[in-house]
Amino acid sequence: MSTNSSSTTLSPYQTFTSTLREVGASMNAHPDIIELLSKPQRIIQVQLPVQRDNGSTDVYHGYRVQHNNARGPYKGGIRFHPSVSLNEVKALAAWMTLKTAVVNIPFGGAKGGINIDPLKLSDQELQRLSRSFIEHLGPIIGPATDIPAPDINTNAQVMAWFTDEYMKLNGHREHTIATFTGKPLSLGGSQGREAATGRGGLFALQEYLEQSGQNHQGLTIAVQGFGNVGAHFARLADQAGFKIVAISDAAGGIYHQSGLDITAVIKARAAGGQLNKNLCYPKLTVKNAGPAATDCQQITNQELLTTAVDILVPAAIENQITAQNAGQIKAKIILELANGPISYPADQLLKNLPIIPDILANAGGVTASYYEWTQNLQNLYWEESEVNTRLELTMRRAMREVLNEQTSHPDLSLRQAAYQLAINRLQEAILLRSWVRPRSQDTVGHLNNRR
Ligand code: GLU
Repeated sequence: MSTNSSSTTLSPYQTFTSTLREVGASMNAHPDIIELLSKPQRIIQVQLPVQRDNGSTDVYHGYRVQHNNARGPYKGGIRFHPSVSLNEVKALAAWMTLKTAVVNIPFGGAKGGINIDPLKLSDQELQRLSRSFIEHLGPIIGPATDIPAPDINTNAQVMAWFTDEYMKLNGHREHTIATFTGKPLSLGGSQGREAATGRGGLFALQEYLEQSGQNHQGLTIAVQGFGNVGAHFARLADQAGFKIVAISDAAGGIYHQSGLDITAVIKARAAGGQLNKNLCYPKLTVKNAGPAATDCQQITNQELLTTAVDILVPAAIENQITAQNAGQIKAKIILELANGPISYPADQLLKNLPIIPDILANAGGVTASYYEWTQNLQNLYWEESEVNTRLELTMRRAMREVLNEQTSHPDLSLRQAAYQLAINRLQEAILLRSWVRPRSQDTVGHLNNRR
């Protein structure tokens, strides 16, 4: 994926702290709490020597950043990606703290990562690396302390290695299985978890459109990123009646004005195809009519971002929309399924555009992780319909709560409203725990009505 990086682009962590400080000041949040939230509580950085199949040794760097646990155990995924750095993981961990607060689930925020291109490693090498990471993280994770999950380039198989290694280190004790979420179904995973981020984003979008009186049928969508999140979102949005006209992966993308049959694209891609013209399956409303597959255009990631569509869905990595290309965005709504796809300066330039922010839009994944964790703790497993019904309630309620926050503070963007909602919830927990001293105007954290 092109990263648009230039010396003027803010780092993900700067983007996070800029928004945090801006919203903290405008809502008159407790300054000590904003200070506390502007830094992670703990950073774990490890060196990971991995024996390659050819006998040589490569050294990678692994990180786990535990940002905040005022509202519950640290929670957040682990990503394998060449761009992983401490700065990036710190931002991702902080966004998890805000995200779990926006959807009001009893978790804090954390994130982990290893700076690696997993495509360059064999399955055996990847397994050794995964197990070695858990050897290092073992003492600081657990079902009541810090619960990792999948993120970019990690999946249920990686969670199975993590779980197995963790159990070797800690034994098969009660609730040990709840140390990781996003596990395979046969190892305590939850129905509906894999598609949950995409599905949750669709629920948030539908609620937004309904609340603003718009009919979603036929609205056009461009999706950047065709990994777990982007592909499930595109498939479900296509089934729901949106028209997905453009999709892309790291190598580039395709566009078709009639919309794409995403189920057909996913099938062809699983059989080994690349996202190029050969994989263009236009959606034809009348059989054998409409533009032919040859009308399909091959596009770059940059072109996808600036396509004229109703809804743009960045579902890849950070800093895709920066001050350099923000002025060319033609979409009417942005749904941020990636974490941090819009830099802080770009966000300022796009103030008038409704942007359903990452800490709300992509919270469906961690919400389903919460359901997986609760199922593990009770040893009682739910049908997929139960997971999806609860997910829909949670995502739609969170979207309405953010909209209500905006209604009572009309100057706020949706992102600022979501931050404000999250900061208020965090502030309450932090004051009740007496981590900072309440000010006279703070309504919790005092020993009122003492008898
Ligand atoms: N990696 C996902 C995220 O960024 C899910 C995290 C989780 O399930 O803990 O939200």
